Amino acid sequence: MSQHAPDGLPDRIQHFIDGKFVDSVDGDTFDVLNPVTNQVYIKAAAGKKADIDLAVTAATRAFEGTWPKLPPRQRSRVLHRVADLVEAQDKRLAALETWDTGLPITQALGQAQRAAENFRFFADLIVAQRDDTYKVPGRQMNYVNRKPKGVAGLITPWNTPFMLESWKLAPALAAGNTVVLKPAEFTPLSASLWAEIFREAGVPDGVFNLVNGFGEDAGDALVKHPDVPLISFTGESSTGQIIFGNAAPYLKGLSMELGGKSPAVVFADADLESALDATVFGVFSLNGERCTAGSRILVERSIYDEFVERYAERARNIVVGDPHDPATEVGALVHPEHYDKVMSYVEIGKNEARLVAGGGRPEGFLEGNYVAPTVFVDVQPDARIFQEEIFGPVVAITPFESDEEALKLANGVKYGLAAYIWTNDLKRAHTFSQGVDAGMVWLNSNNVRDLRTPFGGVKASGLGHEGGYRSIDFYTDQQAVHITL
Ligand code: NAD
Repeated sequence: MSQHAPDGLPDRIQHFIDGKFVDSVDGDTFDVLNPVTNQVYIKAAAGKKADIDLAVTAATRAFEGTWPKLPPRQRSRVLHRVADLVEAQDKRLAALETWDTGLPITQALGQAQRAAENFRFFADLIVAQRDDTYKVPGRQMNYVNRKPKGVAGLITPWNTPFMLESWKLAPALAAGNTVVLKPAEFTPLSASLWAEIFREAGVPDGVFNLVNGFGEDAGDALVKHPDVPLISFTGESSTGQIIFGNAAPYLKGLSMELGGKSPAVVFADADLESALDATVFGVFSLNGERCTAGSRILVERSIYDEFVERYAERARNIVVGDPHDPATEVGALVHPEHYDKVMSYVEIGKNEARLVAGGGRPEGFLEGNYVAPTVFVDVQPDARIFQEEIFGPVVAITPFESDEEALKLANGVKYGLAAYIWTNDLKRAHTFSQGVDAGMVWLNSNNVRDLRTPFGGVKASGLGHEGGYRSIDFYTDQQAVHITL
């Protein structure tokens, strides 16, 4: 597989603390792999408690400075400049992200543009922000004094890392906080680009701090730092549980965006062509490394055989290839450890269900973390491939007979992030949407985000909702001030 390193690769990845790129206090580093070759392509600073302490000190000092006190319009201007800078280099960002993550380049480009949009959205929102005033006639006037919380700890995963970092950075900074970001250790490259972008946009030193490293070291120290009053975390549900426990003694504010095993439910009255396109895209785009992937497809029995046949054919035609090739639809999975996990589920699936597409490495791919788009059908609801998050290009398809059975199957897992429903029956569409255990539902649609709507999951998929003003609420305190007249 030919591989060309993108222009502008740094020679090493450092932390960014108080406006300066620095190595770890103890000089420790870790290896970062390229997912196409699994060769070490760079070393990154491995942060520990001492590095987190320095970053939190810098962020605490910056919180006493100008940033939280700026009028919203001025902070908004800076954040719009961030969006401009991201947009202006979206192709470069996409090339670096693809190099680091194995995501198909066309999809990485879309994610870079989403990152810009996240900044633009919260830059606009903070200017439009208003808070309530309450009058008790003749007695009181009461109002809400909204205040940034302080140093926000942001812990992010390796899937679409740059975009997901923007989803936390933009509202945290818009609301006037200072931040310490701990990006995922598999994919630290794009996070380091924020430093230059923020500097050029005019974000004061110490407002944005970045500490690389492993979750058990740098992430853990951030969660347990007494001067960090809130943690916004995106990652696995099991990691979320650990963070919950570790944050408990400090009574921190927590926002948890966790794992998923989202159902796509296809009724016989659906527009089958659109449902097929969308459900293929829903699990195989972004290499299947997508929290809201529709990784379980439930199909009404009367169209099941036809659906399965046409779905498998589409899956077999998906172009797997070099992530940098614009024709590629599925690239290389992020890391050999994750590849092994996904492949172990492929083997489990072979004993649990009927394989109709994929099922291993695609032909001709001798190295790198490539998995052929894999389709299991007749999957029983107690199968592990039905219940557990695989987070790769693997889908489980299951038939159902009635609306009641479809709902029971849809809700019969521990997760509740997203649900996709395909039907042309209006009443059924809304009844099903309202009954399904999912933080977000898309009717006859792919996962298309509206940044004003709530984003979050129920059950093991998360705690709290971000999106629109909900994000600003998380990153601020709302103090009630009462005035006796
Ligand atoms: P992960 O939980 O392994 O790691 C996420 C982050 O947490 C990393 O930065 C990691 O270093 C850090 N971390 C690990 N242990 C820690 C600890 N003890 N204390 C503090 N930090 C710690 O998740 P991942 O494998 O990077 O990401 C994939 C997961 O993320 C999937 O489950 C996916 O569904 C989920 N995800 C959810 C959403 C959402 O919005 N709900 C979005 C994207 C990804």
